[in-house]
Amino acid sequence: MSKKLLLKDVHIEGIRYFETYRKQGGYTAAEKALKMTPDEILEEVKASGLRGRGGAGFPTGMKWSFLAKPEGVPRHLVVNADESEPGTFKDRYLMEFLPHLLIEGMLISSYCLGSNVSYIYIRGEYSWIPDILEEAIEEAKAAGFLGKNILGTGFDLEIYVQRGGGAYICGEETALLESLEGKRGNPRLKPPFPAVKGLWERPTVVNNVESIAAIVPIIDITGAEYAKIGVGRSTGTKLISACGNINKPGVYEIDMTITVEEFIYSDEYCGGIKDGKKLKACIPGGSSVPIVPANLLLRTVNGEPRYMNYESLADGGFATGTMMGSGGFIVLDEDQCIVEHTMTLARFYHHESCGQCTPCREGTGWMHKILKKIEKGEGKMEDIDLLWDIQRKIEGNTICPLGDAAAWPVAAAIRHFRDEFEWHVKNPELSQTQNYGLAHY
Ligand code: SF4
Repeated sequence: MSKKLLLKDVHIEGIRYFETYRKQGGYTAAEKALKMTPDEILEEVKASGLRGRGGAGFPTGMKWSFLAKPEGVPRHLVVNADESEPGTFKDRYLMEFLPHLLIEGMLISSYCLGSNVSYIYIRGEYSWIPDILEEAIEEAKAAGFLGKNILGTGFDLEIYVQRGGGAYICGEETALLESLEGKRGNPRLKPPFPAVKGLWERPTVVNNVESIAAIVPIIDITGAEYAKIGVGRSTGTKLISACGNINKPGVYEIDMTITVEEFIYSDEYCGGIKDGKKLKACIPGGSSVPIVPANLLLRTVNGEPRYMNYESLADGGFATGTMMGSGGFIVLDEDQCIVEHTMTLARFYHHESCGQCTPCREGTGWMHKILKKIEKGEGKMEDIDLLWDIQRKIEGNTICPLGDAAAWPVAAAIRHFRDEFEWHVKNPELSQTQNYGLAHY
């Protein structure tokens, strides 16, 4: 059984409220941290090996150490709660059921970074969560854990919750900052990076909800102990939101030492494939990461078991591996049509492109059109090559990672499931009435 650090108390009735959270030992990590120096906290975070849980997996301690500290200029912590990646819902779960864990993590992080005004930017579709967060903020303030002169330390902190308008692109950190400043959420060119010029051109750290929540157990048990959990550079625990054709969709906390096979088939996690069907493929890290067929998902090309961690999931690069990403684990059974699935994702990315750069604005639209044509049985063989060519022209040629996020699912689908694309071209009539999966099993 995986060790629980973040979700250990989630099933306790009333844990959402300050009183219960406090009774379970809540805010003791904050009390401990406020007796430390900011540099001592930073060293603990570095020692923990924590990697950003939003998708990129960049070491959090290193990110914090890049924060510029010009004299007299305020700094900010911004929590990225714009969880819009299809298949990902673990931050929603944390905020809905454990809001004080996030606020305690923000208190420790803000103290370490020197932020006296910190923000939670939350996606507009999570319409009921801001009230939960704001209630928790008020409770923490009433108990002396927010506001002026927290616990008599002289440290002040205000936390504000800002609702987004429902745009996927605002999950990209610079688009988020633009939106937070009240502008259209267009990604900025980097450099300068937010650590130097972020919110209102002030030094800013943008971190995912889960990353900030993880600061609490890191301070609680120490960075060195946190680093002992997991394996290699995949330290600590990771929240996975599992969905698709499985028996037990939900949010699971894993310690990154379990195999993918165990995660899918064990009753502790996904409980196997729904209706006893066969596993066909999986997108293990949110819709932007490459899809992998069952054989490469469960084992690497060397025949080794694949594990639920950053390194093992990426083993072999995109030709044979994928990415941990945001931990949005989407499982597809044998009945699913990869062409239809890829077309749905292409439509999503086209709709969400901000339109600033040509390869993304035009390329995502063309990929969607061609995929729609192939899926309807109106495609030609050369359309598959054209599709491949377009995704190659998008990848690496855009301002922000949305371009790559749109290209990778198409590339991986053609790489691993070209036979399905060809089946749609060769069977125009059948492909209008059935999907490849149902026609082949
Ligand atoms: Fe906008 Fe797409 Fe360019 Fe990102 S890659 S800046 S979403 S057009």
